[in-house]
Amino acid sequence: MLPPALDSSPIRPKGAIIVAINSNKWEKQMEFDPEVHVIKCPKCGHGMDEISYGGNLLIDRCTGCQGMWFDHGEADLLKKKWMGDALDIGEAREGKDWDTVEDIACPRCGKDMKKASDPDQPHIWYETCEEHGMFMDAGEFTDYKHETLADWFRSLIKGSR
Ligand SMILES: [Zn+2]
Ligand SMILES: [Zn+2]
Repeated sequence: MLPPALDSSPIRPKGAIIVAINSNKWEKQMEFDPEVHVIKCPKCGHGMDEISYGGNLLIDRCTGCQGMWFDHGEADLLKKKWMGDALDIGEAREGKDWDTVEDIACPRCGKDMKKASDPDQPHIWYETCEEHGMFMDAGEFTDYKHETLADWFRSLIKGSR
């Protein structure tokens, strides 16, 4: 007779459920598993979760460093959504550490990604693949979205002479 395998037990230990409830915001860091994750984080190598926003937008957030991957156009779409930055749950402080990691490969095609900065907000640097999209460290999207609102208000004030 085979010894019972720990992982295949249908009964969850009580402790595991409590952990799951307590960590509803900070999901567990997960090793990349091609059966669970569509994308492997190009920075820290953990699996990325697909997070939907408003039903029609699906972005990928890393379970490790909380960086975010946007397919082409998704960052612009999310920027326009009210509270879209609520998806950017990572610590900006930690994101800054990951920002120093360079030479990362596109999670879709494996080609080297280029560092780029937003033309309107030159202090924000992100990695981009011309064909597939871009990767932002934790906190960068929040910055991206908020600064843009500030710029927009500034342009309103300028325009109302
Ligand atoms: Zn990561
Ligand atoms: Zn690519």
